[in-house]
Amino acid sequence: MRIESKRLHHTYRSGDKALKEVSMVIEGTQPVAIIGQNGSGKTTLVKHFNGILRPTQGELLLDGRSIATRSTAQWARDVGYVFQNPDDQLFLDTVRKELEFGCRRIGMTAELITQRMEPIVDICGLCDLLDTHPFDLSATEKKFCTIASILMMNPRVIILDEPTCGQDVEGMQRLCSIIDFLRAEEKLVITISHDMKFVVANFERTIVMYGGTVLLDGSTEKVFAQPEVIARSFVYPPPITRVAQSAGIERTVFTVEALVESIESMRKKRKRGVPNG
Ligand code: ADP
Repeated sequence: MRIESKRLHHTYRSGDKALKEVSMVIEGTQPVAIIGQNGSGKTTLVKHFNGILRPTQGELLLDGRSIATRSTAQWARDVGYVFQNPDDQLFLDTVRKELEFGCRRIGMTAELITQRMEPIVDICGLCDLLDTHPFDLSATEKKFCTIASILMMNPRVIILDEPTCGQDVEGMQRLCSIIDFLRAEEKLVITISHDMKFVVANFERTIVMYGGTVLLDGSTEKVFAQPEVIARSFVYPPPITRVAQSAGIERTVFTVEALVESIESMRKKRKRGVPNG
């Protein structure tokens, strides 16, 4: 799916200019992370991708079609948005009902709903919780319930707003497995995150927002190779990347293995008398 914003502005009724002149294209299935300080416009931007918010100026096109041509409920078949706060999304009295609700709304047959339920419940760790009231779930389980209810509708694009918030180690692993699963299913995953380790491990493209505009947009490696620029939006590379950068290693590394490899290659170059830099 192709998501294109053309000189998109969004000004809230309060007068807050949350987005100013945002132009970008997200296409294909390469996972995209959107990062930046609080208030930089990340959530406002992604809420345009399925029409929860509409541009106050400029355009948002999905596969070349203006967002204005359909309702949010209609776009939900194509683009699923998982809210940052599960309490904004969950409102029924069992997990099962939450998982079925969106599917019914988009006209999915009961048979298809049953077919989709098993693998999604499994990957989201909800097998024993289908009859539980969402309010009785832990914070992590609630998050996976909101993710599962969106996955059930089988959209082509899945937007995750701060999915790592409050996750423990097990939750993080589950989240990464879900992203791998969606990648294998050729879905486009877009996430907002403050967790840079999560971003560099799972997303090949990163967009940095700053003051309602796009500060940087490119491969995650290229973006984190510019620490002085991203610092303007109070974003900093993960610790391992910073260690490498302060040691003068040119390559942008995200793992210990890559750091060791880079040190080895520097050592070999020195031995051969190849000048650094
Ligand atoms: P981020 O997701 O990067 O934290 P947001 O998109 O939530 O940023 O917010 C961008 C700006 O819009 C902020 O100044 C915020 O206060 C303002 N804003 C967000 N939601 C609303 C709203 N519902 N009404 C008025 N202003 C809002």
